Amino acid sequence: MSGFNIAIDGPAGAGKSTAAREIASRLALKYIDTGAMYRALTWKGIIKGIDFHQPQEIESLTLDTKITIEKGPGGSNLLYLDNVDVTAEIRDPAVNRNVSLVAKNPKVRETMVSQQQVIASNGGVVMDGRDIGTNVLPGAEFKFFITASLEERARRRYLELKEHGHDTTLEEVKKDINIRDKIDSERELAPLVAAEDAVLVDTTNLSAEEVVGKMVKHIKEHIQAGSI
Ligand code: C5P
Repeated sequence: MSGFNIAIDGPAGAGKSTAAREIASRLALKYIDTGAMYRALTWKGIIKGIDFHQPQEIESLTLDTKITIEKGPGGSNLLYLDNVDVTAEIRDPAVNRNVSLVAKNPKVRETMVSQQQVIASNGGVVMDGRDIGTNVLPGAEFKFFITASLEERARRRYLELKEHGHDTTLEEVKKDINIRDKIDSERELAPLVAAEDAVLVDTTNLSAEEVVGKMVKHIKEHIQAGSI
């Protein structure tokens, strides 16, 4: 099974990456975390000390910038920015605070989306993000929109950040996620919205295993029924 693509979208902390990674591993597909690409550009902006409220400064980040994704431990993604591994750096809270400003820039989106479309052009990809089913891969054979309550999403992100040694509070994480979702949902270009033909999965009261089980069942049933 490798000729088809799977698009997974949803707000921050809903469990997209965990599900996408696991589905890719079970179905022998390639996992691509598109959020990591926007994060890498944001990290570049932080290193260069740009003003994230100046569109020209954000656009300059796309010039002469090479972003590559390789397979990492447990099927995760390793993110290289200009040949340097920045997999850990892109999870920094400073990136969380600025990434949505970078991602709403039209020039940035144009560059990232065309790279993502090239990566998925031969099929066999599970891609997660905000606009995969609506904009990057509108023809994807499978589309899912994963969501969960704000409280639960903040709780999950908080635990993740604590585990990686970041000093933060649950309230702070909740506020950051809320702001990011608002910018992502209200931006003009490719806003966060479920594709009309996406399967909705609410993960608030489900374990990661239950979420993946549901999604893989849906995929296999459709393949067996010959509908893709
Ligand atoms: O998925 P993750 O939370 O790492 O994404 C970080 C940010 O990148 C999102 O908040 C959003 O602003 C942006 N993004 C996007 N389109 C995508 C993936 C991520 O705009 N396909």
